[in-house]
Amino acid sequence: MNQELLSHLPKMDVLLTQPLLAGSGLPRAALKAAARSELDALRRRIQSGQPAPAPSMEEIARAVLVRAQTLSRPSLRPVINATGVVLHTNLGRAPMSPAAAEAACAAAAHYTNLEYDLDSRCRSSRGAHVEELVCALTGAESALVVNNNAAAVLLMLCVLAAGKGVALSRGELVEIGGSFRMPDIMARSGVRLVEVGTTNKTRLSDYEGALAAGTAQVLLKVHPSNFKVVGFTEEVPLAELAALARRHGVPVLCDLGSGAPDGDGPWPPDYPTAAGTAGLADVMCFSGDKLLGGPQAGILAGRKEYIDRLRSDPLARALRIDKLSLAALEVTLRAWTDPEGRAALPGPAMLSAGLAQLRPRAEALAGRLAPLCAGWCAVRAVESAGEAGGGALPGVALPGAAVELRPADGDAEALERALRAHCPPILGRLHRGALLLDVRTLLPGDEEEIVRALAGRTPVEQL
Ligand SMILES: *Cc1c(COP(=O)(O)O)cnc(C)c1O
Repeated sequence: MNQELLSHLPKMDVLLTQPLLAGSGLPRAALKAAARSELDALRRRIQSGQPAPAPSMEEIARAVLVRAQTLSRPSLRPVINATGVVLHTNLGRAPMSPAAAEAACAAAAHYTNLEYDLDSRCRSSRGAHVEELVCALTGAESALVVNNNAAAVLLMLCVLAAGKGVALSRGELVEIGGSFRMPDIMARSGVRLVEVGTTNKTRLSDYEGALAAGTAQVLLKVHPSNFKVVGFTEEVPLAELAALARRHGVPVLCDLGSGAPDGDGPWPPDYPTAAGTAGLADVMCFSGDKLLGGPQAGILAGRKEYIDRLRSDPLARALRIDKLSLAALEVTLRAWTDPEGRAALPGPAMLSAGLAQLRPRAEALAGRLAPLCAGWCAVRAVESAGEAGGGALPGVALPGAAVELRPADGDAEALERALRAHCPPILGRLHRGALLLDVRTLLPGDEEEIVRALAGRTPVEQL
């Protein structure tokens, strides 16, 4: 019986001549590999004696097509972020502006003057393309860019504080995620962590004590950008810390983390900014792809004598920024120099969008989806709480709007799975038996794709 079923399976070359496969336009290697694994799977099923109707040639070809499509598409690909979390770490944090993305593309496909001075024909430094912009934006004397902010923290500590005692408040012993923990990174940098104060209260006298006792020779401030301590709390403002450091002749370093460039953005008035930190910390560092809304990068800025030491350290070479990110960073930093440019940065624009802007968008999308879902899924616009994410602006409410999809059969999870399997994948948020598609984080064109997915008109994965 098994033998007979097995002998009915099509031969590989016959299968590949099926119009569905032959006309698919997919690479032959992918089709062959897909056909092989599909036939193997069918053979195994027959041999295991599972009673199943023998699939038709058409059905086998369709299964092969799906396998081949999966095989031939890149593993890393664009997705639609309908979660409402703007700097979603798992989804690549801030989307870059089209201009920044274009700059990265051009730098990738062409030769560039990356380290070449076109006037003097001399070698130049790659950082030169952006460092003046960082100084102009923050008011810092000098700047240096590296691969990411974790690298910036490592470089700053290794070069300026190795072998020394570094005073850090117990309220700032943060974990950033992805196993980046302040105490660990300090140990790895060869500095001695001198914990001062308590989790909720640290006073100037705590730092003063560590300096007076001679246990600390450097002061460090870390912005706890991904959590908030509320209630009975006290921390020392950077200005007071800086004044204390000057009196004792020691440097004060600051990891700003999320890196709000200046006071003019979608963050609370008391949120620490790079411009507000530049005159106080000897060296500060922050991320390029959080609140700045650019590519992955670590930006260091501060007093020239310190930045020069960072720049000339061999570790700086190991942590250097790549040319694609550098090109995108330059365009992003330029955008921050004028109000129009700022408004065109997708990340910051998503963060500042309010309910008045988002509700009509959610209503419009719901209006387009409702007829497509008639009979099997209730659709309506609802209010939803967005989030900055990416370890930025914790506790800051972002009132926004979403389209709520509530399937009649109650299986919102199945709908979520289907949209996630769409090409491109559409990622929403399950909430109380419904699927929410938050419009805050949708980019131009995303609404069209969502409509297409729910119309079931996609050529590949049918809903
Ligand atoms: C996010 C963050 C980092 C790490 O920055 P990356 O750019 O992700 O490397 C370091 N410190 C703080 C305080 C942060 O918020």
